[in-house]
Amino acid sequence: MKELNNHFATLGADFYTKLAPQGLPNPYAVCLSRTLADALGLSAQWMASNEALQVFAGNRTLQGSQPLASVYSGHQFGVWAGQLGDGRALLLGELATARGSFEIQLKGAGRTPYSRMGDGRAVLRSSIREFLCSEAMHGLGIPTTRALALVGSELLARRETNETTAVVTRVAPSFIRFGHFEHFAYRGDHAQLKQLADYVIERYYPECLANHAFAHPLAGNPYAALLAAVSSRTALMVAAWQAVGFCHGVMNTDNMSILGLTIDYGPFQFLDGFNPAHICNHSDEQGRYAYNRQPNIAYWNLFCLGQALLPLIEQVAGSGEAAQAAAIEALEPFKSEFPAALQAKMQAKLGLPDRQDGDKALIEDVLTLLAKERTDYAIFWRTLATSVAHNHFEPARDLFVDRAALDAWLIRLKDRHPNGQLMLQSNPQFVLRNHLAQTAIEKAQVKDFSEVARLLNVLETPFEEHRDSQDLAGHPPDWAAHLAISCSS
Ligand code: AMP
Ligand code: MG
Repeated sequence: MKELNNHFATLGADFYTKLAPQGLPNPYAVCLSRTLADALGLSAQWMASNEALQVFAGNRTLQGSQPLASVYSGHQFGVWAGQLGDGRALLLGELATARGSFEIQLKGAGRTPYSRMGDGRAVLRSSIREFLCSEAMHGLGIPTTRALALVGSELLARRETNETTAVVTRVAPSFIRFGHFEHFAYRGDHAQLKQLADYVIERYYPECLANHAFAHPLAGNPYAALLAAVSSRTALMVAAWQAVGFCHGVMNTDNMSILGLTIDYGPFQFLDGFNPAHICNHSDEQGRYAYNRQPNIAYWNLFCLGQALLPLIEQVAGSGEAAQAAAIEALEPFKSEFPAALQAKMQAKLGLPDRQDGDKALIEDVLTLLAKERTDYAIFWRTLATSVAHNHFEPARDLFVDRAALDAWLIRLKDRHPNGQLMLQSNPQFVLRNHLAQTAIEKAQVKDFSEVARLLNVLETPFEEHRDSQDLAGHPPDWAAHLAISCSS
């Protein structure tokens, strides 16, 4: 592997603790992402080597690697939780590639000063879910952190039962979270807060500087511009989640990426039967993170980020009042861009590239019908796409009890001449449903990794037919309804 460097480490000791990974004994490879390795310029030969296996297990460090655990805080389930930090993640450093630089992180490589009561480990079960979902989201075109490698071991960790452990190698331009900013803001450490904001702006949001060629409209106040840019990216991310039926499950502010990437895959779920109020996290008793609340929660989280940035916004704005006004303005992009992005995504799902007056109602009415019948969300959309593409609507009609209601709606859709090809490119055939992950997990727990590989293969290109994998595109079996996915990981 090429040499790593570590820009994050230049921020200084207030931002992290340097420490070596605690590796896994006798690691074995469970899965690798060939597409990500290619993108990073890592050869297939190196990826298959023992050196790579030991690096991914945390047993061997790469040239130039400066492993560290970063400190952050956050609001969890709406309550200020104070200091959290990378309890089981270690940033190894970053790799310079033709497509920019990417941070490499090990998740599950031992305790850190931020582990609190945790053991610093990740179990194979949740690591498979994180690995597959990262790559699945990428395949769907949704902004996400990526997963390069997954290695397992016989080392046990205690959860509800003893489970074997694993390490996921995660990759992203940056793993900085809203919670990193909240950490310094709540402590009143404004010098560090500014240092962090300047670092993020310089490296990831240079358009927030007034002297940039494509300066952001709020660039006179770079910190307000940063908030606006993050609002905008978060809007696009959550719109993509809603359109595809993805529930994140734990939208705490420490699980919100400053780059608008989906991060920290825990009790996530792709919707089965369409229930707008669906709660995927067994630990979320109040339904704070229900599917239909995700946009509001994203805004709430952006508001927290805005509060954290307020001291910096004020330094430029000159007064508290002016800073408040600038921060409110900087949250506007979420309010305007989220509905616009969602509308555009739903239009594409309906095969309607140009928007017309009745389209909003067309979308709302079909969602109402889906909710009434609890029709499977992904299957409905894909079946509709194939029905339009082949001008044969029986398969779509077969999904409904109230066929008259569907027929009436189909007349309105056909009136708009939907584009079947656009629909096939906008409605995936494959999403990572819980029962699919569960089947792959159970096989992997007895050392059969074939199902993980088969799932990865279809999830990387979920809009393609994959005729020999149709069993992965069907309705969930009855037992899927009894899967309880909690924060335990
Ligand atoms: P999560 O719910 O996975 O986003 O984690 C919330 C916080 O708990 C983060 O600071 C994690 O690093 C930490 N954490 C979760 N599980 C563990 C574990 N097994 N050991 C140490 N820290 C953990
Ligand atoms: Mg987290």
